[in-house]
Amino acid sequence: MAGDTIFARILRGEIPCDEIYSDDRCLAFRDIAPIAPVHLLIIPRKPLESLREADETDVDLLGHLLLVAAKVAKQEELDAWRTVINSGEGAGQTVFHLHLHVIGGRSLDWPPG
Ligand code: AMP
Repeated sequence: MAGDTIFARILRGEIPCDEIYSDDRCLAFRDIAPIAPVHLLIIPRKPLESLREADETDVDLLGHLLLVAAKVAKQEELDAWRTVINSGEGAGQTVFHLHLHVIGGRSLDWPPG
């Protein structure tokens, strides 16, 4: 259940985060275990477990999350970054509340592992 995750607890203010952006639809904060000099997470306030659970009613929300990813990347003065959404355990998802990673501040290899 997305309502029971650590990100749901952050949204409810039960545990702290290093917040960098907030609005009525999402919250962005620094990843606790960064894999690059800049590693940000953007999470919707709506408790979607992953992209798999999103549907047509989430079109505006998903577009908004992407625009916020660009906004916070620019706020961090990144001129290049990667936006990642892991969907499912096999793809590396460990927290089952939809989130976008924004990773930058170093050169990034492609393809990812
Ligand atoms: P994923 O592996 O795509 O599910 O990403 C989950 C991310 O959440 C990982 O990069 C973790 O380091 C990060 N994370 C887990 N707990 C916290 C927390 N309390 N505050 C900030 N980031 C967290």
